[in-house]
Amino acid sequence: MTYDIVVVGGGIFGLSVAKAALGKGLKVALLEKNTIASGASAGLVGALMPHVPSKWNDKKQFQLDALIELSDIVEELEEATGLSVGYSRAGRLIPLYTEPKLEHALSRVEESKQRWRSDETGFTFNVVKETPFNDWLTPEAAPLGIIWDTLAARANPRLVSAGLKTLLETRIDIMEHTEYLGFDETTGTVSLGNGESLSADRVVLSAGYEGFEPLSKIAGKPIGMGVKGQSLLLEYKADKPLPVIYDNGIYVVSHANGTVAIGSTSEQEWTSKEPVEADIQTMLSKAVDFCPSLKDAPILTRWAGIRPKCKKRDPLVGLIPGKDKTWVATGGFKISYAISHRIAACLMQEMFPEQDQTIHLPESFKPAFHFG
Ligand SMILES: Cc1cc2nc3c(=O)[nH]c(=O)nc-3n(C[C@H](O)[C@H](O)[C@H](O)COP(=O)(O)OP(=O)(O)OC[C@H]3O[C@@H](n4cnc5c(N)ncnc54)[C@H](O)[C@@H]3O)c2cc1C
Repeated sequence: MTYDIVVVGGGIFGLSVAKAALGKGLKVALLEKNTIASGASAGLVGALMPHVPSKWNDKKQFQLDALIELSDIVEELEEATGLSVGYSRAGRLIPLYTEPKLEHALSRVEESKQRWRSDETGFTFNVVKETPFNDWLTPEAAPLGIIWDTLAARANPRLVSAGLKTLLETRIDIMEHTEYLGFDETTGTVSLGNGESLSADRVVLSAGYEGFEPLSKIAGKPIGMGVKGQSLLLEYKADKPLPVIYDNGIYVVSHANGTVAIGSTSEQEWTSKEPVEADIQTMLSKAVDFCPSLKDAPILTRWAGIRPKCKKRDPLVGLIPGKDKTWVATGGFKISYAISHRIAACLMQEMFPEQDQTIHLPESFKPAFHFG
């Protein structure tokens, strides 16, 4: 039997590509060398963030469209599986504590109305004097006010991956503990680490940060890297959905299951893949500055992961240069969970250009940009 598509990597990108391929009626296999969502997609944080509404460009539009349609995508997934992914369009708060930040924020308020089509979508980006959510972002941490947007959302990353796995496992062949070694395009043979092989018409590489090594060999230069991030999970029950708090690379995300995740992901240099207690304590103390009521919340778990980041920052989506049947979808900024469905849809468009071309793939996402 020959698969139409073999997808490599069972993270949020690979799962989303597999789902989109299934939606096209294709015969799909998903290879994961460990277990589904055991890489960067095993995370805790789950902030689904918009880009700021200024200096507008194709990729901001792409991300806006992805976020707007996300509610429907989640609803479909939850209906199909009967599983909640802890999604809520809870919004986002950003503390303002310097005059330049305040001025910058105020200048974006006007632009957001146009860019986010606020009249039509209802999503707003405003500066308010104090938190509308009791002590969720205390005035001491935001002396000049707060950016409050109603577009950002949150979901539980582990539940999203689990939902996708449940949806897919009876419809495609998911092969865990199966390492991909390579694809001979001439014979259509996919070589596996266990010595076996599969037959396929196409391969899609969504192998996270480890997938950059073969891509960099093809390009003759580094295409991407792994960026470490760390997080912790607190027990903290909120009586209603609370907005994501974001400041200077740190996210504080209240989840539906009575937890709060705190995380950051921008360590370009790392030696250990494990959480570092000093970093965890720094993040926790910052979060407590924002929300003093987190002070005595018990720590449930700590987690660190390595996310894929393209050297040229933007995601990489399309046919690998010099290849005829080997595709790639990887490197989703810090916000893969907000855009992976749209990235996967774009990949299908690129693969089957004779079908409807409804989504505009930004030039900076295309292999020519990254490999050029
Ligand atoms: C601390 C932290 C916090 C974050 N917070 C957020 C957030 O709030 N919101 C958000 O949207 N994003 C967040 N991210 C980023 C997000 O988690 C990642 O961008 C995303 O999970 C990447 O998904 P992926 O599928 O590209 O890669 P991965 O999830 O890493 O998946 C790649 C998979 O490929 C497999 N693989 C590799 N090589 C092979 C091979 N040869 N054969 C078979 N399988 C292979 C790996 O085992 C792995 O499971 C965060 C990341 C970190 C580290």
